[in-house]
Amino acid sequence: MSKYILLVQPKYHTRFPPLGLLKISSYMKNKGYKTKLVYGEAPIKRKPKEIWVTSLYTYAWKPVHRAIKYYQSKFQNVPIKLGGIYASLLPNHAKNSGAEIIEGIIPEVEKYKPDYSLVPNWDGSILFTSRGCINKCPFCAVPKLEGKFRSEIDSIYDYIELFHKRIIFWDNNILASPNIFKIIDELYKLGKKVDFNQGLDSRLITNELGENLSKLKIPLYRFGYDSSSYKKRLENAISILKENGVRGRNVLLYVLFNYKDTPEKFLEKVRDAFKWGVVCYPMRYQPTDCLKKNTFISKNWTKEELDYLARARRVMGYGGAFPPYNRLVEKIEKANNFNEAFEVWPINWRESIKNTILNKNKISNQIRPRNPKFGNSLSDDFISKIGIKN
Ligand code: SF4
Repeated sequence: MSKYILLVQPKYHTRFPPLGLLKISSYMKNKGYKTKLVYGEAPIKRKPKEIWVTSLYTYAWKPVHRAIKYYQSKFQNVPIKLGGIYASLLPNHAKNSGAEIIEGIIPEVEKYKPDYSLVPNWDGSILFTSRGCINKCPFCAVPKLEGKFRSEIDSIYDYIELFHKRIIFWDNNILASPNIFKIIDELYKLGKKVDFNQGLDSRLITNELGENLSKLKIPLYRFGYDSSSYKKRLENAISILKENGVRGRNVLLYVLFNYKDTPEKFLEKVRDAFKWGVVCYPMRYQPTDCLKKNTFISKNWTKEELDYLARARRVMGYGGAFPPYNRLVEKIEKANNFNEAFEVWPINWRESIKNTILNKNKISNQIRPRNPKFGNSLSDDFISKIGIKN
């Protein structure tokens, strides 16, 4: 009998390695199997015992089905298991692939440290110290995927690789963890870059937490600006961070749009972000079960307004974000309404900004998130060149 397990990450766009598959690899190796990780439809000669496929966004289901069909035709009678976010959110749709569906987290696998030997060029340890969330935001898939908040581990040492340069947390609400101060203390001692990738809950930022967080190497603090009602809590969290020496350019707000707020309310949120001197990343709402990206249009928005904003992000923004650089801040401040604010610049303005970015800056970091709440910071070089306020 074949003693190896084939692990497949379908060909959808992601900057991250497939964490679930890396944990399954450790789990299978512990049971005596060998494992192999491939991307998409790879030429495989030896028949595996089982094939495990992962999935991500629901709208990225096609590459998942394509990979499953490919391996089904290559290896008849080899069981194929499909897990991950798409499979958990839309199990009935995922069943059409012909794979066995694994919904949610596999408890016996969860405790394993990811098998990073499968991704030797990857430089970060990814971990969840908790699952679930204390909140139940109606637009978010986390309550459905992970349920109630629970702390999973109280120390990170056993889950990181010391040769990695950074530590990436995928906790959905890490500040709610009863172990947060212990975790911060361990991070401080490790001295590596820290990425709270899923964002921080602005409601939970206290003076004590702000002081402790600011001692860590955090290139970017991310918060959600989902509703206008978050204004006070965000203002408070940002001011606490600033009092502790964090610069505005190291704070990014994911500003939700195309949900309940109107375009004018969205403009107010962007103005708030600029007033606080932080980077604004517009986050388009998509239903958690959408099968085609960017097709949902909220009743408060029109297709034209969504197209307008998308164009403004491409032309006036950077990497999809609006950094608070002086000219943009001025434009947004002076605008009388949403259309005026996001009307793209005349060609000479655009060219001057584009040239600043293209000629003088080599940004390797990206600021896009991993999932609807899911990046890195803007480089100092870029920031200084385009004049972002602190
Ligand atoms: S959006 Fe954030 S705070 Fe709200 S339920 Fe999802 S993870 Fe929790």
